[in-house]
Amino acid sequence: MRITLKEPRQAIKDVRLDSTSGYEKCMQCGRCTASCPAAFTYDDYRPRDIMRDLQLGNRDSLTSILWRCGQCYSCAARCPRNNSVGAGILALREAALASGKAPASVKNMAAVIRKNLYDRGETFLPKDLTFLGEFGPRTVSRCKDNPDKRERLGFDRDDARARPIPEHAMGEIRALLDMTWPGGKRHD
Ligand code: SF4
Ligand code: SF4
Repeated sequence: MRITLKEPRQAIKDVRLDSTSGYEKCMQCGRCTASCPAAFTYDDYRPRDIMRDLQLGNRDSLTSILWRCGQCYSCAARCPRNNSVGAGILALREAALASGKAPASVKNMAAVIRKNLYDRGETFLPKDLTFLGEFGPRTVSRCKDNPDKRERLGFDRDDARARPIPEHAMGEIRALLDMTWPGGKRHD
């Protein structure tokens, strides 16, 4: 299927939420919830309930739990209706970010990731430790001396990649970001 993006963000949002996620086809069997690591971890997170809320149009009630999904797509692999809760979550996240309803920590993280992608084609840099709190204390403790570890291994302290991304590829990355970020064009 070919999609022409006259209004890129709207088109992407509709494809993911209304077609790919397939919430209208959900029959509430619960296989997605049974296989979901986030549902295993968080008492308030159940993919089956998310699909039900989407069917009922309760999108706003989902804003606070959207960020629990790890985008592993176990739900999509097991759904007998070929649905993808993870794809629906992704679309809802984009909508929350676009409408300013995402938590401040998520907005900050999104801005840092985009800036790094725009400038260097990388998501997190080793120095981006201020965001690790979002991933829990174990991760913070494991990663807090990342730049030192990199130096000991002979890499640059603050490059996530061993080699820079070629300039022509950077141009493509920037064009994609300009097309898809709310408001278009670059941040700062
Ligand atoms: S596995 Fe599919 S059909 Fe079953 S509850 Fe989840 S989304 Fe709905
Ligand atoms: S993609 Fe999200 S909702 Fe689906 S199984 Fe993984 S964590 Fe759960």
